[in-house]
Amino acid sequence: MNRIIYVVALLLVFSCGGQEKSKLITITPDDVKSTVAYLASDDLAGRDTGSEGIEKAAVYIETIFKKNKIKPYFETYRDNFKVDSLDAFNVVGFIEGSDAKLKNEFVVIGAHYDHIGYGKTVDGDSIANGANDNAAGTSAVIALAKYFSIKKNNKRSIIFSLFSAEEKGLLGSKHLAKRLKAENLNLYTMVNFEMIGVPFKDRDYEAFVTGFDMSNMAERINAYTKSNVIGKSEVAIKYSLFKRSDNYPFYQEFKVPCQTISSCDMSNFDYYHHVDDEVDKLDYQFMASLINKLIPAIETMTNTTTKEIMMNNE
Ligand SMILES: [Zn+2]
Repeated sequence: MNRIIYVVALLLVFSCGGQEKSKLITITPDDVKSTVAYLASDDLAGRDTGSEGIEKAAVYIETIFKKNKIKPYFETYRDNFKVDSLDAFNVVGFIEGSDAKLKNEFVVIGAHYDHIGYGKTVDGDSIANGANDNAAGTSAVIALAKYFSIKKNNKRSIIFSLFSAEEKGLLGSKHLAKRLKAENLNLYTMVNFEMIGVPFKDRDYEAFVTGFDMSNMAERINAYTKSNVIGKSEVAIKYSLFKRSDNYPFYQEFKVPCQTISSCDMSNFDYYHHVDDEVDKLDYQFMASLINKLIPAIETMTNTTTKEIMMNNE
């Protein structure tokens, strides 16, 4: 190769890599809305485990992962399990960390993508679309997966997991947590997203973390984002929401900070497991803004040289 062309080619390679890393990537309301609009459409019939609708949802997520060169964590994207006689599957993507040592530590970013299928009929509508619960959380995981697939700035490895059969008793996350524990995965922390589709009312923070007092997760997120984005929910404490989403099986297996971020503690949403939990009930501006605010926190989690997020009893 001609030397000048070689130098120019080298410069191009380096400048492109550099640009990607420093490029400002912002999640837009349309990004999250397009995911929710598909997953919570009547066509997917409420994404019940074992249904045709959830098969379509899984294919949708796999297609996005593939298009963005997010690798499957296992041989395929699907982590298969059975719910009685039904076939169920988590969808699990993976972005390897860039640091030779830290890449052996993992951050799991999760959300359940299943819902309850059909609900109590209201005005002729019986499809429980599950827009807030939990197409919303799924849209956050997909947005973050796309983000890191472009930035590639994570020193620790990241697993992006969309869980099935949450609505049947956290079965998908139980299955995956056990499987990862059995292969001795070095889990640093797990951040789960649930019902982030509507803003909290009358608070000076935007979302809460379940198990607030168990770890320094909220304090670290606020420090990493230089803001007061995460707070506490009394309702979440009263109803032990820490034990009611997919973070809990991970906590049980690994005993490290595994927590759910949510902006809905039932005090600000009337359509929990209701056929009116529909696409038009969510605030996409709020969702995109929340995800954008949390990005620096996730980025820092995947890059600190030491493990800074820990249980409060450590
Ligand atoms: Zn849920």
